[in-house]
Amino acid sequence: MVDFDRSLRTLVKDLSDTMVEANGVGLAAPQLGVSLRVFTYLTNPEDDDEPPRVAHIVNPEMVEVDQEEVEDMEGCLSVPGFSYPLRRSRRVVARGMDQHGEPVEVTGADRLARCLLHETDHLDGVIFLDRLDPQTRRRAMSEIRERMLAGEDIQVKSSPHRPLF
Ligand SMILES: [Zn+2]
Repeated sequence: MVDFDRSLRTLVKDLSDTMVEANGVGLAAPQLGVSLRVFTYLTNPEDDDEPPRVAHIVNPEMVEVDQEEVEDMEGCLSVPGFSYPLRRSRRVVARGMDQHGEPVEVTGADRLARCLLHETDHLDGVIFLDRLDPQTRRRAMSEIRERMLAGEDIQVKSSPHRPLF
């Protein structure tokens, strides 16, 4: 349950600041250890020339997910430094609320659609590695394990995500 109070606004600000600082295009509350259905994202993830425009959504639901899929490289701030090809729907429509409880609807295509799906997955405890095709997933897990064995701290810390290994 999300209460539309000051602590929610603080969370949205923390998510926004952390995401922008990390040059991310999306960040979900569980990635900061908060089990609430909230994420921030960039409305212009394709645009490297303009300053990032940050938005957020609370209790998002996908109301449209196009059948048509595109493959693109995908990464995650919780698994920094790794990206892998993944097929996702080309266009989605998400509905939810803003931090004041007002309804919001966002239509995303291409990278924004990918971002909305990726962040909604985080709210359900699903990380993009879970969606890779089996062969790519095997390669990903062995590359990640190698870097962890080399002493790098790569761990998806927070609920509802389980440890990678
Ligand atoms: Zn992620």
